Amino acid sequence: MPLILCCMAIKLSLCFSNLEASLRSLHIQGTFSFDGNEFAARDFGNQIHFLPSAVLHPKKVSDIATTIQHVWQMGSASGLTVAARGHGHSLQGQAQAPQGIVINMESLSGKEMIFDKGTFPFVDVSAGELWINILHECLKHGLAPKSWTDYLHLTVGGTLSNAGISGQAFRHGPQISNVHQLEVVTGKGEVVVCSEEQNADLFHGVLGGLGQFGIITKARIALESAPTAVKWIRVLYSDFSTFARDQELLISAENTFDYIEGLVIINKTGLVNYWRSSFNPQDPTQASRFTSDGKTLFCLELTKNFKPHEADTIDMV
Ligand SMILES: Cc1cc2nc3c(=O)[nH]c(=O)nc-3n(C[C@H](O)[C@H](O)[C@H](O)COP(=O)(O)OP(=O)(O)OC[C@H]3O[C@@H](n4cnc5c(N)ncnc54)[C@H](O)[C@@H]3O)c2cc1C
Repeated sequence: MPLILCCMAIKLSLCFSNLEASLRSLHIQGTFSFDGNEFAARDFGNQIHFLPSAVLHPKKVSDIATTIQHVWQMGSASGLTVAARGHGHSLQGQAQAPQGIVINMESLSGKEMIFDKGTFPFVDVSAGELWINILHECLKHGLAPKSWTDYLHLTVGGTLSNAGISGQAFRHGPQISNVHQLEVVTGKGEVVVCSEEQNADLFHGVLGGLGQFGIITKARIALESAPTAVKWIRVLYSDFSTFARDQELLISAENTFDYIEGLVIINKTGLVNYWRSSFNPQDPTQASRFTSDGKTLFCLELTKNFKPHEADTIDMV
């Protein structure tokens, strides 16, 4: 048995050196790293750690296409897998490629974002861009994406491969319903533009496709006017039925909030004490109601956009 293991180890190391040599021979503008790739074996779950053989740091979309064409030509017998990695904030090794090739999409970020400020505004962005950067750039134009995630240090390609859900989804749908067009590198290494009208199967496969139907390299994101002011409210409930009834009422009402999200909280961590600062300090009765350590609470987080001249009436609204 040790002999077999030893042979396997020699065979694997020969494969790696062949792979390294063949990847080094590719004409690309970015780089491959073969050492120091531990970051590509980590994710937010921190449970699964598969080291890839190589990480591609692309400078151009053509670097990704060239690499995937090369893997395609090696054929399925190579057993080589390829995974795109955004910000690595998924779980269970989703963005990892055991002994394969990880594509570090963030090295494609920082490219110019191209705005169309017409009747239906949009922005064209690199899929390796973080949503937080897109927000900052959009605000310079008085615009903002319609649909968000709660946390914004995630890449466009990463959230579009899942769904991208937050408190705007009840109104606009998740992020994958607010994309007009994608540029995708397919499993054969072709660069294809797709939308509802053009290569629709690829478009719908890639959106929410967990990185299994191609590598998203660019996305056209739907925008709207950014609000100038926002009223933010948290409402705590101890009774689930009341919480759920209120949430259903609010998401189905016509004139309602702009953001509605429901949360379940186990009040073990002093979270509610911390949140108490968001209650009106002139209302001590309200602020002291939730001395509920260890209990399950339910929270509605709500926002309403308003214009500066509506500031006096927004509380009543
Ligand atoms: C603190 C935190 C808060 C979160 N909040 C929310 C939230 O409010 N709403 C929500 O919907 N989700 C939320 N998530 C989940 C998060 O949106 C997903 O895990 C998302 O995939 C992470 O994006 P990423 O850039 O880190 O992608 P990665 O983890 O790097 O990749 C995730 C998957 O997408 C694939 N992928 C990455 N880039 C591309 C690409 N360009 N083309 C094709 N496939 C690609 C990967 O191969 C992998 O399968 C949260 C996660 C964390 C850690």
